Amino acid sequence: MEIRVRFYEELNDYLPPQNRKKDFELRINAGCSLKQLLESCGLPCAKVDLILVNSVPETLGYTLKDGDRISVYPVFERMDISSLNRLRNTPLRRLKFICDVHLGKLAKYLRMLGFDTLYENDYTPSRILELSGRQERIILTRNQRLLQNKKVSRGFLIRQEDPWLQAKAVVAAFDLRNTASPLSRCLECNGLIVKIPGDAVQDRIEAGLLTRYDVFFECDKCKKIYWKGSHRDSMVKLMEKLLAE
Ligand SMILES: [Zn+2]
Repeated sequence: MEIRVRFYEELNDYLPPQNRKKDFELRINAGCSLKQLLESCGLPCAKVDLILVNSVPETLGYTLKDGDRISVYPVFERMDISSLNRLRNTPLRRLKFICDVHLGKLAKYLRMLGFDTLYENDYTPSRILELSGRQERIILTRNQRLLQNKKVSRGFLIRQEDPWLQAKAVVAAFDLRNTASPLSRCLECNGLIVKIPGDAVQDRIEAGLLTRYDVFFECDKCKKIYWKGSHRDSMVKLMEKLLAE
């Protein structure tokens, strides 16, 4: 029997280069199920959210037929498949990330957009795996081998070197445009930023700032103080650019 298969987005990382991002033909034995097909490709079922067989959603137990056309989509929220049935009843609604040690600037961009993003410059691969598993965080990494680890159930390979382009790629891949809340998170520690009255910051900032600004914010974790100044305005513009198509 012969079928046509296509993997989407980051699932392509499991395929040999010649089969990536396009339809490819596969010879299979009669009686082979979708689950067995994924396993034979080395693709863990946990990473798959939706499988279409001839444009109809199917479950893993489906028995393949000669001439079937299979489309395999990853586990993330995506606009283009949101109306279809998923393999899971509870998809990951609130996306949380963890960045590897090479992606400090990307982590800041994501925090700037308001996304819960862990990053430390001394993370070991095992620490990243542990935090990702325990806190259901999507691993963002430049390291393809890390994503091949059996413990990874959510991961995305960052192919770009430039942090701005990395951020653009993550925004596009996870449809972050509608769920961003810019400047709601501390860039330093990932804490949430809350508004505080001017008199609460009196003895914690320069007197000059108090006379120039009247709206202040504080990180609920590291207590860093932010204010509505020109820096904040330019960050808002930057975020608008990042979220633009
Ligand atoms: Zn903070």
